[in-house]
Amino acid sequence: MNFVETYGRDPEGVWAAPGRVNLIGEHTDYNDGFVMPLALPHTTRVAAARRDDGLLRVRSASVATSEPVEIPLSRLAAGGEALADAGWARYPAGVAWALHADGAQGGGADLYFESTVPTGAGLSSSAALEVSTGLALNDLYGLGLTPDRLAALCRRAENDFVGVPCGIMDQMASACCTAGHALYLDTRDLSRRQVPFDLAAEGLRLLVVDTRVQHALGDGAYAQRRAGCEEAALLLGVTALRDVPYAELAEAERRVDDPELRRLLRHVVTENERVARVLRLLDAGTPRDVGPVLTEGHASLRDDFAVSCAELDLVVEAANSAGALGARMTGGGFGGSAVVLVMEAAVEKVSDAVRAAFADAGHETPRLFDAVPAEGARRVA
Ligand code: ADP
Ligand code: MG
Repeated sequence: MNFVETYGRDPEGVWAAPGRVNLIGEHTDYNDGFVMPLALPHTTRVAAARRDDGLLRVRSASVATSEPVEIPLSRLAAGGEALADAGWARYPAGVAWALHADGAQGGGADLYFESTVPTGAGLSSSAALEVSTGLALNDLYGLGLTPDRLAALCRRAENDFVGVPCGIMDQMASACCTAGHALYLDTRDLSRRQVPFDLAAEGLRLLVVDTRVQHALGDGAYAQRRAGCEEAALLLGVTALRDVPYAELAEAERRVDDPELRRLLRHVVTENERVARVLRLLDAGTPRDVGPVLTEGHASLRDDFAVSCAELDLVVEAANSAGALGARMTGGGFGGSAVVLVMEAAVEKVSDAVRAAFADAGHETPRLFDAVPAEGARRVA
């Protein structure tokens, strides 16, 4: 099944938006902090054509339903509640809603999605879905949105229409990354820089290990960590934890009595410092030295922020014991994926060690692949 078979006509174009992995800067984006994601070669592609009858029709090759989902744009005004039972279709519908709410003069469309981004693996299939939708509508209707505006509207769709309280990192990564680079992003003002990250030239590989688990704990825990960070910021009299300088961490910790809040504070402040350190290492042309910073970041997510799980800890432990330069969980946590920085020559040994450790522990076989920094969202046909 494809666009032509589904809708009985040709698409006007095809757009692609990638998934992402985050190299460093985890749980910092909703604290106005710093992140450094890179786009994956895995993309969500959407073939699309305008409609002039106010209907949005969506179908995904990843979803085994026989009919396209049909959504009258007039139903979107009521917000996500009105489409509570529309499942995955809420993502593209939410993007149409956010564009309209922003004053864009768009209209209906037929959309057909195909994706190679694993879903629910912490690799941002949701952002790839949103950004591909947004870019297609932007181009079809000549809306003239910049990549950051598009990312912000896609985030709004996920936050306010789908009801997932994510930060801005995923959508910005999908919309703005460039091949061969990591994206250094200040999530407060969206200022950013493309940082050269040519792994092959340095004899390095960045492996992604998808643990293929997603613990149910995740959703509530994310909201709870977010609320905790806000509470800590309030206690310290700052807008967001990003405003606590690393040099003043010890002093700030003394002012937060609750040990749990103190640990959240510590993670966010040290994680922002780790992003700064990784940036310096990449700028200095010494990407190998990034490894230990990743492992340090993992320890902080495991011990202070408490969002890791047995499978993610096992990836890091097994990879590092087998000679990786460093490793950490990436994404929200409680399952999903880890990244492992490793010298080319050690890839096989490290990969085998991770698989063997999973087999020994009785975990499902993980999925391993290379993260080659790829380009962000674009029109492909
Ligand atoms: P992640 O973004 O880490 O992959 P999320 O839970 O944020 O995980 O988003 C996954 C959800 O996004 C899926 O459950 C599904 O509803 C939707 N989704 C993502 N990609 C697609 C796709 N290609 N087709 C249909 N739905 C998709
Ligand atoms: Mg997501």
